[in-house]
Amino acid sequence: ASPLSSRIQAMHESATIAMAKKCRELIAKGFDVINLSFGEPDFQTPQYIKDAAKEALDKGFTFYTPVPGIPELRQAICDKFKRDNQLDFQPNQIVVSTGAKQALANAVLSLVNPGDEVIVFSPYWVSYEEMVKLAEGTSVPLVGTLENDYKVTAAQLEAAITERTKLIMYSSPCNPTGSVFSRQELSEIAAVMARHPQVFALADEIYEYINFVGEHVSLAQFPEVKDRVITVNGFSKGYAMTGWRLGYLAARQDIAAACEKMQSQITSGTCSIAQHAGLAALRGGRASADEMVEAYRRRRDLVLDIVKDIPGLKTPTPSGAFYVFPDVSAFLGRTAPDGSIISTSMDLALYLLNDGLVSAVSGEAFGAPECMRFSTAAADDKLVEAFRRVKASLAKL
Ligand code: PLP
Repeated sequence: ASPLSSRIQAMHESATIAMAKKCRELIAKGFDVINLSFGEPDFQTPQYIKDAAKEALDKGFTFYTPVPGIPELRQAICDKFKRDNQLDFQPNQIVVSTGAKQALANAVLSLVNPGDEVIVFSPYWVSYEEMVKLAEGTSVPLVGTLENDYKVTAAQLEAAITERTKLIMYSSPCNPTGSVFSRQELSEIAAVMARHPQVFALADEIYEYINFVGEHVSLAQFPEVKDRVITVNGFSKGYAMTGWRLGYLAARQDIAAACEKMQSQITSGTCSIAQHAGLAALRGGRASADEMVEAYRRRRDLVLDIVKDIPGLKTPTPSGAFYVFPDVSAFLGRTAPDGSIISTSMDLALYLLNDGLVSAVSGEAFGAPECMRFSTAAADDKLVEAFRRVKASLAKL
C-alpha cells in the first residue's frame, strides 16, 4: 500500500503544469513547440519595481517579516482598494501571501469544514476544486452557459444554494473564459447572498487590471454582503510578477486573523524583497499595467480574427484576462490521420501538441470538457503562427 495520505492521493496534479511539462519534453527533443498552455504574462516586471527590489536588498531587508505582511505594504493595499475599488479596509483586514494562490488556500482552509458545500462557478480556475478537497469540503460546480459567456446567473446560484452551502468561489475577469461580471450581474448575486446569511464568497480579482470592457466591479462593493466577501488579488498578472510570489486578500477582521494564523503555521510572511517590490508597484499606480493591457487587447483581437475562420470552433469574445476558450466539441469523436479517435478535449490537446506543435490546456481541468484554453500572452507573430498550425491540424480531422 502507498505510504501517501489519502489527502494527497485524491489530489490532481495541476493540468496546466502537466501540459507545460510535456511541452518542455518536446522542446528538449528539438521540436519548435509554441507554448500557449501557461497563464503567465510574457512581459518583464517593470523596471521601477525591479529597482525597488534591488534597493530593498541593499538596505538589508533580509529578515522575517510580520506574518500578514510589512505594515507599509498592507497600508498601500488599503490605499489601492480605496483608489481602484472605492472600498474601505483597515490594514488589519489585509493578509499578504505567497501569491494569490496562497491567499485563496488560506481562505478556503479557514472557512470550510468537512462536508460544507462550496459552489464553484464553472468553468473555474484549476486549483479551486483541489483546495476545497484539501479542506474536505464538497465542491459543487455551477456551470455557466456559452450563450451567457459562461457566466453563472443569480437564478442559477439561488437554485444551487442549500443549508450546507458555506462559500461561493469565482474569478472575474475569469480564468479560463475571460468573462467579466457586470455591476448588474454582481448586484443580483449579492442580492441572492443577502437572502442566505450562511454563505460567504471568495472573489478572485487577480485579473482586475486586464480588462477590455473598462469597469471592474468587486462583490465587496455591495454593502449588504461586504462582511461575507473575501477579496483576493495580487501582482502576478497586472504587474507581470509571477515569479515574485506575492498576493493578498482583504476580509472581515476575524477572517483575516484566521488566514494569518493559518499562514503563520505553514509559510510565515512572504519574501521580504518581494514585499518591497510590491509596495513600489502599488505606489506606481496602474500605468504599467495599462500599457500591457493594450498589447493583450491587440492579441485577443488578432487571435479572434483567425479563430473565427476555423470551422467548428465556437469562441466567445473574452472581456478580460489573456486567454481564448473555444468550444471544441465539434472535433470530439473525429479520427486523427493515424487512425486514433479524438474522444476528449485532452486527446485533442495532445493531438495539437504532437501534430501542430502547439500546447494548449484541455477544458476538463476547468470543469468544461467541451472546451480548450489557449493563452494569448505570447508575441503577435507566435500567436499568428500558432493559430495557423491549429487551423491546419484541425483541418486534418
Ligand atoms: N487565481 C487565478 C484565477 C489565476 O489564474 C492565478 C494564476 O494563474 C492565480 C489565482 C494565482 O496567482 P498567483 O501567481 O498570485 O499565485
